[in-house]
Amino acid sequence: MIPSFRHLIARCALPLCLLGNAVHATDYPVTPQQIAPDSWVVIADTGYFTPANGGFLVNTAFIASDDGVLVIGSGPSRAFGEQYRRVIEATTGKPVRELIITHKHPDHFLGNQAFHDVPIRADDKTSSMLRSEADGLAQNLYRLVGERMQGTEPLLPNAPLPTGVREHGRQRLEFIALSGHTQSDIAVFDHRSGVLYAIDQVFNRRTPTMPNASIPAWLAALERLEALPFKVLVPGHGAISHDARPIRDTRAYLQWLDRTFDDAARRGLSATEVMALPIAPEFADWAEARDEWRRSVGFLYGAYEQAALPALAP
Ligand SMILES: [Zn+2]
Repeated sequence: MIPSFRHLIARCALPLCLLGNAVHATDYPVTPQQIAPDSWVVIADTGYFTPANGGFLVNTAFIASDDGVLVIGSGPSRAFGEQYRRVIEATTGKPVRELIITHKHPDHFLGNQAFHDVPIRADDKTSSMLRSEADGLAQNLYRLVGERMQGTEPLLPNAPLPTGVREHGRQRLEFIALSGHTQSDIAVFDHRSGVLYAIDQVFNRRTPTMPNASIPAWLAALERLEALPFKVLVPGHGAISHDARPIRDTRAYLQWLDRTFDDAARRGLSATEVMALPIAPEFADWAEARDEWRRSVGFLYGAYEQAALPALAP
């Protein structure tokens, strides 16, 4: 019989415990970084989902007010969410009041169980997609991450997320509806502190993930984000920035990917051949460059091949 994950944690007095041949950290490395008054981010690993990192590869953020804390993203697992909430409440000295889910990807919402007693907000489209897709997304993370997902179940958003501006303590938060990374993405811009929580619309030296991408919509979203007068940029993956360079880099990558797929389809290359093409030097040292490129071929290249087919005579 395999002991439960909680059981294993309870028996471990040291930060690391041995399970068979694998070493599992009992805690995620959740270290808040203050980026403005009452505002923090937690910067994650930039790799891919593995048992070793427990799926912790997405940045999350939280913003305090006198009434309590607004949290952006709940992370990849129940264990992460529970640890994260303890860290938030210890850092701010305030209770969590609400959770914002920016888009449907599982590393951003599978910690929701730890926030079951507060409103979990998402826009209507994301909420609707999660009703049909959340179980499959969770199963995929179980497959990739394994043991540290123990006890994680998808808890769906339970409250609306109106777009537009609202006051939150010292902050003036604007919830901006975008799309492109997925069919529906929310960015949060704090007009007072100048922090832009772009989350997965922007990747910083970590190769963008494309399972639900629309490149034209994503490029339009980046234009809109770059026009905002931000002072601090919080990407979904990679370090924060104080300028628009990660936005420009994400745009350059999407444009290069689009050109390369288009050219390859016109030349009749197979998906396998496209997977082996060289990565442009300016993107080659980004985290997960080759693996994410291969995955992008799987997600998107078929549409380029279709578009390159000669039109059939009526
Ligand atoms: Zn995402």
